[in-house]
Amino acid sequence: MELSSNPVFTFGVIADIQYADIDDGFNFHGTRKRYYRSSLQLLCNANRCWDQQLIKPSFILQLGDIIDGFNKKYGASERALQTVVGEFSNYSTRVHHVWGNHEFYNFSRSELCSSVIDSRVHCVRVGDGVMSDDVYAYHFSPAPNFRFVVLDSYDLSIIGREQSSEKYKKSFKLIKANNPNDNLNQPPGYNQWQGRFVKFNGGFSQDQLDWLNKVLISADKKEEKVIIVSHLPLHPLSTDSICLAWNYDKILSILNSHKSVVCVMAGHDHDGGYHLDTSGVHHLTLEGVIETPPDSDAFGTVYVYEDKMVLKGNGRISDRLLMFQ
Ligand code: ZN
Repeated sequence: MELSSNPVFTFGVIADIQYADIDDGFNFHGTRKRYYRSSLQLLCNANRCWDQQLIKPSFILQLGDIIDGFNKKYGASERALQTVVGEFSNYSTRVHHVWGNHEFYNFSRSELCSSVIDSRVHCVRVGDGVMSDDVYAYHFSPAPNFRFVVLDSYDLSIIGREQSSEKYKKSFKLIKANNPNDNLNQPPGYNQWQGRFVKFNGGFSQDQLDWLNKVLISADKKEEKVIIVSHLPLHPLSTDSICLAWNYDKILSILNSHKSVVCVMAGHDHDGGYHLDTSGVHHLTLEGVIETPPDSDAFGTVYVYEDKMVLKGNGRISDRLLMFQ
């Protein structure tokens, strides 16, 4: 894809690194190979490529699941996290870390808050871009007229919430009402989109939806273009249904009621996906590093212009032209 000159800014994207210092394995269903050690090398490839760009990325979006849940079993969570974050910090580019299910397999929510992957430190304080201490959601503007909103798609979830908390209780009720299986990581088989009610997914509290709505009202007024960032995909046609956020319908109706929203970027579904919805919002799910063979790659660089974004993909990630509608 040809790039016209002078983008407003560029940024890097990478999803589902899931690093662990263990031998290769397979996914939950035993159908896809996972390259736990090689994922670090693929991150290294990405960082080197971004560093060599003529126009240096303003920041990197790490879309969640930075280390694999297996680390917990081996008591290696902290070491694995330091290894991957250490690889990022060989370069001076700021990284925005999203939290996915594997973050919560390794760490409690309170451990994650103020950890090296709590990127809210890039905002000054609660109220100044940050939603609250309890919900990992914040927004930032890397250039005039553009805003990124990082969402907490495990705000409602039975992982990462204390069992005594109201959010846990509410989430448990919701998942039990929609999934009859004893193993709640096993999707229910009712219909196509019911499969999302599994333990490794989550959703958004009403408080977070209200906060998002306010952020978007302000962005509409300022005529900004907003990119939504979430570990879980938000549109059923941009992912396999078993990777979709629980209350995707609620958040979609908010996103589609604001003219500022131009794109949603997500991870979690290692096969990736893409859909342009009827409101003109691009829903992009990035292919995951963890299921990418060592001789390939899975990262992208996005060139942002006033009227479009151009994704230059590497390895499994394809080039894409995302026109603002
Ligand atoms: Zn995930």
